[in-house]
Amino acid sequence: MFALVDVNAMFASCAAAEEPSLRGLPLVVAGDPSDRRSIVLTASYEARAYGVRTAMPVREAMRLCPDVRIVPPDRQLYERYSRHLFATLEAFTPIVRPVSIDEGYLDLTGCPGLQAGPVALAAEIRRTVFERTALYVSIGLAEGPWLAKMAADLAKKRSDGILLLCPEDMPQAVWPLSVDAFHGIGPKTAAKLRGLGIRTIGDLATTDPARLRSFGVQGPRMRRLARGEEQGSLPEESGPLSLSHEETFARDVRDQEELHPALVALCDRVAERLRREGFVAQSLGLRLRNKDFRDFSRQGPLPAPSTRAEDLRRAAESLLGRMPATAFPCRLIGVTAHGLTKAGATAPELFPDDLAERRDRLWQAVSAVRERFGPDAVKPLGAEATRPSRRPSGQSKG
Ligand SMILES: [Mg+2]
Repeated sequence: MFALVDVNAMFASCAAAEEPSLRGLPLVVAGDPSDRRSIVLTASYEARAYGVRTAMPVREAMRLCPDVRIVPPDRQLYERYSRHLFATLEAFTPIVRPVSIDEGYLDLTGCPGLQAGPVALAAEIRRTVFERTALYVSIGLAEGPWLAKMAADLAKKRSDGILLLCPEDMPQAVWPLSVDAFHGIGPKTAAKLRGLGIRTIGDLATTDPARLRSFGVQGPRMRRLARGEEQGSLPEESGPLSLSHEETFARDVRDQEELHPALVALCDRVAERLRREGFVAQSLGLRLRNKDFRDFSRQGPLPAPSTRAEDLRRAAESLLGRMPATAFPCRLIGVTAHGLTKAGATAPELFPDDLAERRDRLWQAVSAVRERFGPDAVKPLGAEATRPSRRPSGQSKG
């Protein structure tokens, strides 16, 4: 069972959540109203009742609703509420896929709360989100992600904000909708469908597959989704899957010993980025490119998920030991952290010791000093041997 959770009128709702005196009032988020070109970015539901719409000139909104309150946009505010929203959703299921600042998929399969039924669980999610963020969400529920998204769009029109759709509900609930409402179809494809006389999702579901030939593989896929024969899939997980740094040398490096300072420096840079971006690495990759532009890669797991430069360095040294002699003379080295997970999301070390904790605190202090005084304020020991400087950047791609 999948849910698509979507905040109603996100920007306006955040403004009202932050400033309770604005709640229940017709409200728009927009640029400077004295500027003729300013448009409405989001209108609260109260403003929409006056006919105010997104992308309408602010002056038009003021004409339709003279009492409308105008609030300037505040990206930091939306990001803060977005973080609260997703943290709240993650308490219900570990599989949360944000698709935008105010919208995300939840895989509810195996959720303990599902025993009471999907609608009861969605009501609980909706209530909890409101208690913690003062935001109202709409929730679409279905066996697959695509139908959950369609259900969420329809749920916005309901007072309880929740709609469960089963495949057998589709002819009655989804088929009358215009092809423009089909999730995943853009305006160009919708226009092309209309040109073929396919105006509704029901037309698409019941059309002869041969009529969709000009859409290539997308044709049968759209038809199967419309017929409830395909579920769609979750969007790719956001955030990086790996994180890497590399260095190209001004002159080729002869052997492992001469390469070592660059390896230490790169492990330090990768570790710093992991800490800054809040990820923990589970494995490490090392890449060398020899003077003939042949690449050699080795990869291995870390003993435990880590962000510490010394753990990455030890793993990189052992990978370096497995490199063939033909990797030298070497013109480029790259270090990549793989298997990234959010810091704090992985199980803690089995036998946490004082020393490990002190080392983590030390690295946090190093990061803080670098943030303030620049990346070279603290240099890793062993990275400072005389080594050839970088090639000019024009040559560094190799
Ligand atoms: Mg929304």
